[in-house]
Amino acid sequence: MGQVVHDLTEEQWAALRSLWGGCAYCGADVAALQKDTMLPISRGGRYTLANVVPACGSCNASKCNTEVTSWMRRKKLDEGRFLVRQAEIARAAAAGPTPTSPPGPG
Ligand SMILES: [Zn+2]
Repeated sequence: MGQVVHDLTEEQWAALRSLWGGCAYCGADVAALQKDTMLPISRGGRYTLANVVPACGSCNASKCNTEVTSWMRRKKLDEGRFLVRQAEIARAAAAGPTPTSPPGPG
């Protein structure tokens, strides 16, 4: 019970990195992008396609366990644009490989 589901595959992670083309937050084009959970694990987030974005080390360290929109507001980043793009990219990445199971409820 209550175990964390990590259903982000390596293929999905590769797709996310190529679709974003750099850090999801500041756009930095660095080789070593880290998996950042928009909703932190400590707040109930999961490593799933819909919750993970590539982030540079600087953004990841700065955001830490903060909820993404409050952090972006504080950093004066365009959260509206980010959220629209994130939804589009998550959908595009999900459409890549054929899913073997139907999407869950909700
Ligand atoms: Zn960044």
